Amino acid sequence: MAIVQICEKEKCFGCSLCHDLCPVGAISIETIGGFYYPVIDKEKCVSCGKCQKFCPANNEENIEKSKNETPDIAYAAWSKDDKRHFESASGGIATELSKAFIERGGFVVGVWFNPETYVVEHKICETIDELEACAKSKYVQSSKTGIWSKIKEKIKEKPCLFIGVPCEVFAFKTLCTTLDQTKIKPFYCVDILCRGGSSPHIFNEHIRKINNGKHIKNISFRGGEYDGSLVLYGKDDKIIYNFNALYDPYYICFEKHSIFRKNCFSCMFAGSKRISDLTIGDFWGLDEQVLKTIKINGRSLFFINSENGNTLVNIIKDKINITERPVEEAIKGNFTLNCPTEKPKEYDELWNKAEKEGFYGAFKLVYHFNWQRKQILIKLWNILKCIFPPIVPIRRFVIKLFKGNK
Ligand SMILES: Cc1cc2nc3c(=O)[nH]c(=O)nc-3n(C[C@H](O)[C@H](O)[C@H](O)COP(=O)(O)OP(=O)(O)OC[C@H]3O[C@@H](n4cnc5c(N)ncnc54)[C@H](O)[C@@H]3O)c2cc1C
Repeated sequence: MAIVQICEKEKCFGCSLCHDLCPVGAISIETIGGFYYPVIDKEKCVSCGKCQKFCPANNEENIEKSKNETPDIAYAAWSKDDKRHFESASGGIATELSKAFIERGGFVVGVWFNPETYVVEHKICETIDELEACAKSKYVQSSKTGIWSKIKEKIKEKPCLFIGVPCEVFAFKTLCTTLDQTKIKPFYCVDILCRGGSSPHIFNEHIRKINNGKHIKNISFRGGEYDGSLVLYGKDDKIIYNFNALYDPYYICFEKHSIFRKNCFSCMFAGSKRISDLTIGDFWGLDEQVLKTIKINGRSLFFINSENGNTLVNIIKDKINITERPVEEAIKGNFTLNCPTEKPKEYDELWNKAEKEGFYGAFKLVYHFNWQRKQILIKLWNILKCIFPPIVPIRRFVIKLFKGNK
C-alpha cells in the first residue's frame, strides 16, 4: 500500500528532503496554500518508508538531542571590508565566511534569487563570484527541491558549508546521517536566526505584478543603499521597483509576521540552544558604546556552538571586527533566541480573506491600506520632483518644522 502521509501537515517544514530521498521519484513538491508541501504519487510509491523515517518533522526527539548548550559568550561582529559590510544584511559575516570557505577548497550552500524562475532557492556555490547572489537576506522561504541530491554528490568531493535557517540546517544534518561517513568530506553548518518563513507563492505573485513586465535580475530586502526596501533590479542593474518596508504590501506583511508558514509559530528551533556549529543573526540591543564604534549601519551577532564553529570563526578572524558581549545582551535583544514568533491576531483573517479576495484584496481589507493609491501618489511625487526640484528641501523643512513643534 502506498504511503498516504509523510508527516502531519501542520508539522511539515517544507524542507523537501523527502522529495530528494525517495528512491523512485514518487514525491513532488507543490505550492499548497502559499507554501511548499510534498505530494505522493500513489502509483509510483513503493512504501519503502524512507520519507517518513528521515522526515525532520517526524524526529522531534532528535531535534532536542542535537541542540547545544546556550553559549557563555555572544559576539558582535562586522566585516572589515566596508563595501562588503555595506552590501550585506547585517555585518556581512555569512559572506565573509562563505568566501573564506571557498578559498580553502570547499563549497557553500546558500540562498539566491533565481532570475530564470523568479524563485528564491538554495544553491551550491563553488566560486567567489557565485557567492555574490547569496549576500543579503531574502525574506522568503527558500525552495530546496533537488538541493539535497546535489549536496549528496558534491560532498563526496569537497568539504561543505551549509547556510540556512534552523529547520533547513536540521534537514541538512539529517541528510548527512543518511550518507556513508567514510565517503564524504567534512561538513559544517551555520544557522541564520529566523523569525519565520514567508509565503513563496505570495512573493512570486507580488513580484510578477510589480515588475511592469520587465525581466527581474535580482531582488533585495536588506543591505546596500536601499536597506529595508523591497527592490527589484532589472537589466544592467536598473531599478524596476523600490518600495520601503512601510509601503510595500509584501514587506509590511513580513514585518507583521502575517504571511509566515503556520508552523513557524511553534518553531522547535527558537531559543538560545542552537543546533548548528555557528549561529548568525542581527545584533539587536547591542550596547550603545560598541554601536558608536561601527561606522556602517548593521552588525552581526554570532554564537559559537561547537568545535567546528570555532574552526569556522578562525578562518575569518582577520577579516572581521569582533567584540565579546554578554550572552544575555544578545538574548534580550532578539526574541527568536527566547521563543517562537507569536501568531498575529489578524493572521487567520488575512488568509481566509485571501482565499476569496486574493492577497491584495485581503491586505487592503485587513490593514486598511490602499497600496494602489499610494503607488499613484508616489509616481506623482516623483514627477513633481523632476519638474520642481526645490520641492524636496521644502518638504524636508516642513517635516522638520512639524516634528519640532510636536
Ligand atoms: C527569513 C529570514 C528571517 C530572519 N529573521 C531574523 C530575526 O528574526 N532575527 C535576526 O537576528 N536575524 C534574522 N534574520 C537574519 C538576518 O536578516 C541576516 O540574514 C543575518 O544576520 C546574516 O547577516 P550577514 O550580514 O552575515 O549576511 P550576508 O553576508 O548578507 O549573507 C546573507 C546570508 O543569508 C543567507 N540567506 C539569504 N536569504 C535566506 C533565506 N531566505 N533563507 C535562508 N538563508 C538565507 C544567504 O545564503 C547568505 O549566507 C533572518 C533572515 C531570514 C532570511
